[in-house]
Amino acid sequence: RVAAAAPALTGPGRTSDGYEVKLLANVGSVKNVRAADEAHAEGIGLFRTELLFLDRAREPAHDEQVTAYREVFAAMAGRRVVIRTLDAGADKPLPFLNQDGEPNPALGVRGLRVARQRPAVLTTQLAAIAEARSLTGADVWVMAPMVSTPAEAAEFAAAVHDAGLPRAGVMIEVPAAALRAADLLRVVDFLSIGTNDLSQYTFAADRMCGDLADLLDPWQPALLQLIGVCGEAGRAAGKPVGVCGEAAADPALAPVLVGLGVTSLSMSPRAIPAVRASLAAHTGADCRRLAELAVAAPDAAEARKSVR
Ligand code: PEP
Ligand code: MG
Repeated sequence: RVAAAAPALTGPGRTSDGYEVKLLANVGSVKNVRAADEAHAEGIGLFRTELLFLDRAREPAHDEQVTAYREVFAAMAGRRVVIRTLDAGADKPLPFLNQDGEPNPALGVRGLRVARQRPAVLTTQLAAIAEARSLTGADVWVMAPMVSTPAEAAEFAAAVHDAGLPRAGVMIEVPAAALRAADLLRVVDFLSIGTNDLSQYTFAADRMCGDLADLLDPWQPALLQLIGVCGEAGRAAGKPVGVCGEAAADPALAPVLVGLGVTSLSMSPRAIPAVRASLAAHTGADCRRLAELAVAAPDAAEARKSVR
């Protein structure tokens, strides 16, 4: 009997021909860091900071924020931590922002847009991130959620650099941002595609609505096409483009995303081993061919079938 090839259960993410794809973990606090380590995550690709702000009548003070960020950075010393500034509003309402009056919260003042009304919330958070970084050895990257235009990205990048932080990026969650990925990459260092919201806004389908699951399917060719626009822009600019939404956790989709130009995948830690094994079973050329098949498919079911 011939033994099957050992699956790649540990080590950095790479295709069978050695093309590197960083496998990162999504975390909400230091409590998730152990699971990230157990899955041999290469770092954190999405540190959601909302947890600290939930159920609070007031914004957490600078020192409390420093402590929470420092715990995660210290646990990841020497590795990449992509921390996301506060993503309040819509599915993540925060009492201290008093946003109750919005008729359509998913299209309202959420994510980076909160800084239009409350700029101090962002500057306080960036100062806390900078202080926590200076106390640890982590490679800290900072990104903003819900960015729509290059002007918003430029303003955010300036605020990040003013705080003394070296790397600024934006999430791609809005179709307008995906279409203008090349312009965004002129003003930021990296992009991270949030497929949960990018699906919601591309298909005009509430991400909380189970009846619309077919529209929110990450194999939808229109979603993949937008991811491809970002990947192509990243290749041209020589800058990283990651995926940190649920789509990154699908082992069958991982080679397709890599073929579209994605350079890192960030997911819940338990999904990492299967994604690592899937990448190790494909060459870079396989990934590009599968990406072409998936984007050319008429619908999500056909995309899945043609890739399988
Ligand atoms: C996303 O929108 O895909 C994402 C990663 O952010 P969140 O799920 O926190 O909105
Ligand atoms: Mg999102």
